[in-house]
This record gives sequence, C-alpha cells and structure tokens, in this order.
Amino acid sequence: MLELSAFGAAAAIGDRSISAAELFDVYRRRAAADRAAGGEGLNCFTWVAEELSPGGETPQGSLAGVPLAVKDLFCTEGVPSQSGSRILEGYLPPYTATVVSRLRSAGASLLAKTNQDEFAMGSSNESSAYGPVRNPWERTRVPGGSSGGSAAAVAAGLAPWALGTDTGGSIRQPAALCGIVGLKPTYGAVSRYGMIAFASSLDQAGPLTRDVRDAALLFSQMVGRDPRDATSLQFPHAIELPSAERLDGITLGVPEELTGEGIEAGVLAAFQAALARAQELGAQIREVRLPHAPHALSAYYVIAPAEASSNLARFDGVRYGLRAEGADDLLDMYTRTRHDGFGAEVKRRIMLGTYALSSGYYDAYYGRAQRVRTKIAEDFRKTFSEVDLILTPTAPTVAFALGEKTGDPLAMYLNDYCTVPMSLAGIPAISIPCGLSDGLPVGLQIAGPAFSENRLLDAAHAFELALGFDGSPARV
Ligand code: GLN
Repeated sequence: MLELSAFGAAAAIGDRSISAAELFDVYRRRAAADRAAGGEGLNCFTWVAEELSPGGETPQGSLAGVPLAVKDLFCTEGVPSQSGSRILEGYLPPYTATVVSRLRSAGASLLAKTNQDEFAMGSSNESSAYGPVRNPWERTRVPGGSSGGSAAAVAAGLAPWALGTDTGGSIRQPAALCGIVGLKPTYGAVSRYGMIAFASSLDQAGPLTRDVRDAALLFSQMVGRDPRDATSLQFPHAIELPSAERLDGITLGVPEELTGEGIEAGVLAAFQAALARAQELGAQIREVRLPHAPHALSAYYVIAPAEASSNLARFDGVRYGLRAEGADDLLDMYTRTRHDGFGAEVKRRIMLGTYALSSGYYDAYYGRAQRVRTKIAEDFRKTFSEVDLILTPTAPTVAFALGEKTGDPLAMYLNDYCTVPMSLAGIPAISIPCGLSDGLPVGLQIAGPAFSENRLLDAAHAFELALGFDGSPARV
C-alpha cells in the first residue's frame, strides 16, 4: 500500500482492492510511531488522528478516503493548530480552513498536522517551537522549510501527500530538499481563509506530493473562489490531470540572474542535465533576463516582515493560546506573553517589520520594496511574451546540516533566492526532483504566467517521465 501514489490509492479504494480504513490504518500507525519517537524520529507531526473520520464512517468523494497530512497552520476545528509556535500551544480553533474543508468534502481524511517553522518563517524547519524536523534522506540534515514536516512526511512515506503553504518558497524549497513535488499556485487560486497568516499578500496553500499527477489531483480539489477570502478568485478553467510526455513547441527561458552565482556546482550540474533532457523532449531553450530578480530577496525581507508584524499583533494573550502569568497590568501581560510565546526568528521579523513601517521610514523601506515588487512582476510579464515557462534550480544547495545556518539569518534567507521572485509576482511555480548531488535530491523549478497551472503541470509531468527520479531511498 505504501508504494501507491495518492492517485493509485484512490483508484484502489474505488475498485475495492483495498479499503480506506486499511490504508488509513497503515499510515496512521507509521505517523503515530514517528510522533511517539519525538526527537529520535523525523519529528514530522504535531498531532496524529485516531480515526478515519470524526464519526468513523468512510469519507465519500473522488479522493476516496486517501489520508492527508496538513501543515500545522491550517485551522482545523477541535484539532491543535499552533503554526509551530509556543504562543498558540493548545489552541483548538472553532472553525476549519476552507481548503481543508474542501478536501474533506472531496473525500480526503485528515491524517495528521505537520511540524513547520514558527509562523512559517524559515527555510530549515529549525524555528519550530516543537523541535526541528529531520530529512529522511540523511537524518543529520534539514528537510527545508517552512513546510518541512509536510515534505519529510511525504518523502519518508509517512503520508501519501500533504498540504503546505508557500510565502517565499516554503512549499518548493522543502520539496526540493526532500526529493518530492511541490506546487505554489497563482496567488488567489486557493482560499487563505483559516490559514494562520504570515504575509497575506504572498501566502498561498499548495500540495506536496510524490509525483506530478498527485499534485494536479490535490490542487484540482483546492482551487476556487471563497466568499470568505476577498483575494481568492475563480480559477478560469478546470485543473486537468497531466498527460504530456514531450515538450514539443514549448519555449523554456533560463534567466541568467537565477542560474549562476551562488548556486552550488552539484545543483547546477543536475539543472544543466535537465535542460539537456528538455531539448531531447523537443523544447527550445532560450536565455532570458530578469534584471530585477537579484533584488527580490531584499524586497521580500521588507514586505514579508512588514505584513507579519501587523498579522502577529493579534497574539496578545487575550484571545488565543498562551497567557503569561504574574503580570502587573495589561501592558505587562502583553509584553510577557509575547516575550515567552514567540521564538527568536519571529521576534526578529516583528522588529524588522515594525521598523520598516514606522512613520518617517515607511516610504524609504516599504514603499521602495513595493516598487521593486512591481518591477519584478513586469520583468516576468515581458519574459512570458517571449517564452512559455521559466526554469531555474529551486534552491541553491542540497539539504544542509542541522544547525549549519541557524546562527546566520542572512545565510538562511539566501535559500529563497530562486523562489522569492515568483512569490512577489504572484505567479505559479512547481518544484520537481531532477537528480542527486552528493546523494541528496536537487529540485528543478518551473514557473509560468498567472493561471498557467495546467501547462506547468503538463511540462512537469513530461520532465518527470524523462528524468525517472527514484524517490524510494527516502522511505523509512
Ligand atoms: N523562508 C522564507 C521565509 O522565511 C519563506 C517562508 C515561506 O515561504 N513561508 O520567509
């Protein structure tokens, strides 16, 4: 059963060769064992379900009861939803995020909540208040972040598939570091209602899966306008399961700004090999320019902390989770709660964001970062008038050692060099495994114009077939 993709599992349940209850039980036992092992295991989960569905009955719908792991920050009624933070420890939301309800109505059964960087801030899953996650390919290494628990769980066969969120790379980078598929949709394609917010103009939910077809299947049940999220949109067409085996007639752009300096040699070699494959598959490769992309990281690290400082103002000890004891007065209670409840990275972002938004500095930082953001979106628009899709490595390195970058925030931020430009432009991008370097997976990022997900998934599917990546070494 573990060898079945989620699509295969749904089909097997459909033709009654396995039952949803059996499948759930296999994964539940594996997930619960990892949870029980704590720091000795991969530490993928913050909560594991006990039964197939709240009432115990078999879920109906096209997803046929296939178990789904969900990043901790998706509010799930009655289930701990803590966004990897101490300040939300024990918080049981009274409602469920739209995307989780939609997937449940489509027949997915909630298997577990996954560990993540605190409030989705990080690239290594080491900022979680619930301990770091380990990479199943090599346990001394990070799985990437912030959706590290989701990525490691899928790679290790502890869940058939999982939900993550991506603000600047948090689906694509951990997918790359764990050797699986991760899709960040067009901004607005999926409702953000019920997602514990980090940076609202960037946050998007998306699938982490073993293959491209599973990504398309999960995504097809997530999209659509939600009256509870004013930034959500009706996707202009139905999401199809990908079938392409060739890339004939497709022009792929390779931006020199994101494929040169700072990318590790082994990652670049796997990337170049993928480009050669693309040509064999009939694609044309063209060099393109994204002149403002090198400034994306600087703009992102003003805009995202600015939005976070505002979003995180609500955690004050009054309404949710933790409240510090022994305060003298209200202000003291706020201060102590936020002091005890937030970790170092979150505090750093709140301070950066508050400073960037302060009167007198607002235009110099936030205003300027927004202008850079517009330039980046224009670069992509121009480039997509010349090419269909853009290819880059997903992350500049393979999975690095636990602890290697925790003392140097800037080194950590550089992980997102290749993924942040697409986030700022609001366009979709997928990461698929394209080979190994030093025995560790390398991710290939494919980006397209807004709402080009079908084309993106098709191209990714053709690549996947041709590259024949073997994800099995990561099963544990
Ligand atoms: N690593 C980036 C950050 O820390 C992106 C995180 C994300 O996409 N949620 O902000």
